[in-house]
Amino acid sequence: MTESAPSGGPTIACIAGGVGAARMLRGLVRVSDRVTAIANVGDDVELHGLHISPDLDTITYTVAEAIDPERGWGLADETWQAMDSLGRYGGVTWFSLGDKDLGTHLFRTGRLRSGTPLSTVTREIARAWELPMELLPVTDDPLRTHLVIDDPDQDEPVEIDFQEYFVKHQHSVPVHSVRFEGAIDARPAPGVIDTINGADVVVIAPSNPLVSIDPVLAVPGVRAAIEARRHSGVAISPIIAGAALKGPADRLLRELGHEASVVGIARLYAPLVATLVIDEADRDREAEVEAEGVRCVVAPTIMKSAHDAASLAQVVLDCVGEPSEPARPAERAGET
Ligand code: GDP
Ligand code: CA
Repeated sequence: MTESAPSGGPTIACIAGGVGAARMLRGLVRVSDRVTAIANVGDDVELHGLHISPDLDTITYTVAEAIDPERGWGLADETWQAMDSLGRYGGVTWFSLGDKDLGTHLFRTGRLRSGTPLSTVTREIARAWELPMELLPVTDDPLRTHLVIDDPDQDEPVEIDFQEYFVKHQHSVPVHSVRFEGAIDARPAPGVIDTINGADVVVIAPSNPLVSIDPVLAVPGVRAAIEARRHSGVAISPIIAGAALKGPADRLLRELGHEASVVGIARLYAPLVATLVIDEADRDREAEVEAEGVRCVVAPTIMKSAHDAASLAQVVLDCVGEPSEPARPAERAGET
């Protein structure tokens, strides 16, 4: 870690996808040492017999400052010899797994096979990386995002799983609908509901609303718990000036009947949070956002550096006020 987290700080529950959430968490841990991320597992995939949890790993590697900064996923200074070896045998190589990263998947899979729940393994991995926060998968039960697309080879729709859409097809095919397999029977992982109930601030990270945040909300009990804490809820728009910074969020919003703008995001999140933070680029849409029933806060929201992320994290906390320990603002002075 480059900076030490403050001692104390408000209790923060952060509903998280992958890259956008990881950047937000990198900031949140700089303004509080009581951060818990509740993360999406709908993107999880089994490949080569290994259980891969892309969003959990993106969060872990980013907050540990070990992520590859260019790619935004996987570990820095990675090598790819196992992939070369797989290619020799004609194995599946469209989903790249670096040599160092493979160790994480080997460990996770081995522990799961011996009967350990995903939340426990995730905690073990987070501890090994010395994360200054808790990381919880939203559920220990299987939950998988599937998308219905036009079959590129035939004239009828076909359902594919998330990584096929995202990585194999590079999210370039139109989507008709999204389905979260297993969601109805999924139970929140131990600690998920208590974390939301006990949080001073519930943050919805700037993640893809339809394939990163929605699967978390689809676990029975989670949406209701967040709605009950709406007054302490703050979301950050992943859409800036009508576009996603990266990935298919803008296109997916349009394809599934939403507006790809901060107003569309306000419409989706108004039942869940009292405040939406939008980027300065969208300042002219403030009144339209508020017309959707959320308070609108305008701030720089592009998190290139840890400093950007910490500044945005402070904006998020300021949205809810200072619920505990009134002495802390002075302690924090000069932090960022
Ligand atoms: P994934 O699971 O890795 O695809 O990532 P997420 O679902 O967490 O995040 C994808 C979304 O995050 C995209 O819509 C991006 O526009 C958004 N995003 C990524 N970085 C930032 C950032 O620094 N600021 C904001 N406001 N949004 C971001
Ligand atoms: Ca993801």
